Amino acid sequence: MLSSPEPPSRRLPTGAEPHLEPPVNPIALIGAGPSGLAGARALSRAGIPFRGFEAGPDVGGLWNIDNPRSTMYESAHLISSRTTTEFAEFPMDSTADYPGHRELHRYFRSYADAFGLREHFRFETKVTGIEPVDGDPSGASGWRVTATGPDGVSTTTEHPAVVLANGTLAEPNVPSFRGEFTGELMHTSAYSSPKVFEGKRVLIIGAGNSGCDIAVDAVHHAASVDLSVRRGYYFVPRYLFGRPSDTLNQGRPLPARIKQFVDSRVLRAFTGDPVRFGFPKPDYRIYESHPIVNTMVLNHLGQGDLRVVPDIDRFDGRSVHFADGASGDYDLVMLATGYRLDYPFVAREHLNWTAASPELYLNIFPPSFNGLFVLGMIEASGIGWQGRYEQAELIAAYLAAQRDDPGAAAGFRAGAARPWPDLTGGYRYLGLDRMSYYVNKDAYRRTMKRMLRALPAPKAPARTATPAEVRA
Ligand SMILES: Cc1cc2nc3c(=O)[nH]c(=O)nc-3n(C[C@H](O)[C@H](O)[C@H](O)COP(=O)(O)OP(=O)(O)OC[C@H]3O[C@@H](n4cnc5c(N)ncnc54)[C@H](O)[C@@H]3O)c2cc1C
Repeated sequence: MLSSPEPPSRRLPTGAEPHLEPPVNPIALIGAGPSGLAGARALSRAGIPFRGFEAGPDVGGLWNIDNPRSTMYESAHLISSRTTTEFAEFPMDSTADYPGHRELHRYFRSYADAFGLREHFRFETKVTGIEPVDGDPSGASGWRVTATGPDGVSTTTEHPAVVLANGTLAEPNVPSFRGEFTGELMHTSAYSSPKVFEGKRVLIIGAGNSGCDIAVDAVHHAASVDLSVRRGYYFVPRYLFGRPSDTLNQGRPLPARIKQFVDSRVLRAFTGDPVRFGFPKPDYRIYESHPIVNTMVLNHLGQGDLRVVPDIDRFDGRSVHFADGASGDYDLVMLATGYRLDYPFVAREHLNWTAASPELYLNIFPPSFNGLFVLGMIEASGIGWQGRYEQAELIAAYLAAQRDDPGAAAGFRAGAARPWPDLTGGYRYLGLDRMSYYVNKDAYRRTMKRMLRALPAPKAPARTATPAEVRA
């Protein structure tokens, strides 16, 4: 292990909040995906020095299919539409409503270049450990970050605070099944091209957005495709009334019950009843789980290219037995069973893990305000990268307040001791692990704006370049 190339970090008085005074070691920022880039941009604008660590060779996170940690597949496109997803200050230079992953990777590269973000990151540098300096869990003495670089050498540096933006969709959630499947078993995280299905009898388990995308890929290559589901889903078309469906009803959101009433009827008129195609009837209302933006899967069911089958009972060699007593033989089982949150480099108590996810104030701040910040730990329909940027802005404003106006920072922290804001927007989300950090985009973004207003604007922020200037 090499010693730190940074100067020794400023030691903070024991028991005090991590307080930033220049000159001070930079904040550490983990990840250069959309959230990490948003973090880099917001910290730069607030004049807060930071050092970025990115395990992959480039910016763009999972949108860079060449990033070894990427869970992207060749056919993937945006699921939310371009204008509701892009960073507000940097519109995409595209005419596609739902651009593909390569175009999105180019977008993140231009974003990083336009705002000079790349130079702050060390690439091919994976963070392997974060520990409080002197073992002090209050974080008052800062955090020790250990990372392994491209040369395989491990380096430890000290930082007054750490922003974790390492993504939420990298660690596969692999449920346990009774019995053993002796054919090919893979998780969607390892899926990249439909060639893997060529001539095979395929079973896809799970009909989330990735499961449905991949089922549509598979029908063009496989000998047969079955889709095993536990519950019913709501299928939203990409276009409604000729426009990307998530661009309708923007602005003033309808109350949850009214929106559920209206949208479920609009969907029924456009896509019909998925029960007709073999799906169970949903035992929850629309938007109480993540909707599936894919109606091609219904077309293929209608064409007989695809079949819906029940939940798995057990595996037995090449056979799969289903909950209704039926069974089928398969060559390949694809687990489209989602991902689980993973912050493997930091002990769970520092992030206040309770059950399936860390319990964080506003999905960002450990309630002890220990100098760790989680960026991007939100799942929501339509929150986009701008939603992640607003999280980053709040982190930057809080850090700037610690530096410039400790009273305002203390006032912000006091908010976490009061009942936390309701981020559900009035929707009763399913009590599933994957929904444990789900928020309603309107409620969340409204709360972010309110919280930002309660903090002073960072002093002397860099002037914001216009999109035309940054592209020039
Ligand atoms: C097929 C697919 C379609 C999607 N469609 C949409 C959509 O339409 N709209 C939408 O808003 N979202 C969509 N998403 C969600 C997607 O997660 C977000 O768009 C976005 O990528 C989240 O950005 P992030 O920076 O939080 O995470 P990521 O993109 O996962 O980036 C995390 C980065 O952290 C790095 N990293 C991880 N661990 C370490 C470590 N230990 N040390 C250093 N670096 C590390 C990784 O290499 C990676 O670059 C989709 C996801 C998938 C898989």
